[in-house]
Amino acid sequence: MKLNLARFRVTSPRKFKLSDYSCSNTGRVKSKEQAEKILEANIKEMAELQDKMYAHDKWAVLLIFQAMDAAGKDGAIKHVMSGLNPQGTQVFSFKQPSAEELDHDYLWRINKSLPERGRIGIFNRSHYEEILVVKVHDLVEKEKLPHELIHNRIWEDRYRQFRDYERYLYENGIVTVKFFLHLSKDEQKRRFLKRIEDPTKNWKFSESDLKERKFWDEYQKTYEEAITNTASKYGPWYIIPADKKWFARLVISQVIVETMRKLKPVYPTPSEEHIANLQVYKERLLNEE
Ligand code: ATP
Ligand code: MG
Repeated sequence: MKLNLARFRVTSPRKFKLSDYSCSNTGRVKSKEQAEKILEANIKEMAELQDKMYAHDKWAVLLIFQAMDAAGKDGAIKHVMSGLNPQGTQVFSFKQPSAEELDHDYLWRINKSLPERGRIGIFNRSHYEEILVVKVHDLVEKEKLPHELIHNRIWEDRYRQFRDYERYLYENGIVTVKFFLHLSKDEQKRRFLKRIEDPTKNWKFSESDLKERKFWDEYQKTYEEAITNTASKYGPWYIIPADKKWFARLVISQVIVETMRKLKPVYPTPSEEHIANLQVYKERLLNEE
């Protein structure tokens, strides 16, 4: 069965309404078991494509994960990457910027973490926080920018910077794909309660999660603006229904597979000279004392 990814994709800065997208609709996929079968096949194909991408050493893929707390970023990353070769993947989590990071432009830490050619880079949060949490909580004043650069069009400036940056990355062989794990407020509550009740999950919960939840509507609006203004063919957004983890993982794996397929990675063809030499090396090995 083929999932129609166009349902989840946003590629142009036109009218986009988050409320048009479901948090729980699983379409034609009716059960977790069915989803897991397809996920397994996707993970296998991803591993084959990754092997070629690594050998090809041309394109890199950057996967950006953004979401509200408890939407399942960590779990999705863990599952989807489970079949990949760790040598070909690089995962980075972005927290509140350190003093050193604040002494630089906001892309400094992002640039340092970009995937190398042939690799898959995963960002658990990203520079998108600069137009999300920073906007919701008005943190821009703390960013040490020159005062005259902080004006009420700063968000528009940043949207443009993000669009330009993703185009720049593409033109340099890095393909960006952005996932928004779209969780409902009710499901977040259920997951928070579980984190409180299950001792193995206690460490995942803190008071700040509750505080952030109070800003739910503000965040939804801010995500909507951010997605509307930064969706492009060089940096498509995928709005992933996240209330059912098994479905979210399935869609994410499908997006990754289809993105990698499009890059048509191939094993490098050895030169005729190299092929001839291989025969010589083989002889040497076989005739070893
Ligand atoms: P989890 O809660 O699932 O463990 P998390 O990604 O929420 O994962 P936390 O350590 O809870 O990790 O939170 C990191 C925090 O850092 C988030 O609240 C995020 O908004 C914040 N953050 C990330 N980048 C920036 C930034 N550029 N400016 C300000 N805050 C940021
Ligand atoms: Mg958190």
